[in-house]
Amino acid sequence: MDDEKFIDMCAVCKQGVTKTMMVYKRGRVFHERCFETKGDLFPPINHEAAKESARARIDLVQMKNLKVRTDTGLVED
Ligand SMILES: [Zn+2]
Repeated sequence: MDDEKFIDMCAVCKQGVTKTMMVYKRGRVFHERCFETKGDLFPPINHEAAKESARARIDLVQMKNLKVRTDTGLVED
C-alpha cells in the first residue's frame, strides 16, 4: 500500500508521482518515463541560485517585520 503513496509532483508533466514510479534526479522528482523522454530539459538545480532566492525571502520577511514595527510606532528614529 505504501508503495502507492503520492510522493511529489513530476517536474515534467506536473502530475503526482508515486513511490513505485518515481525517479529522483537533479534535485527533482520525475516519473521514470518522463525523465527518459524530457529529463534533458531540466538542468541540475543551481545551488547558488537557490541560496540567493532563500536570502531574498528572508530579506522580505525582515522588511515586513520592520514595517509592522514602524506602523505601531515601536521604531524610534
Ligand atoms: Zn511525469
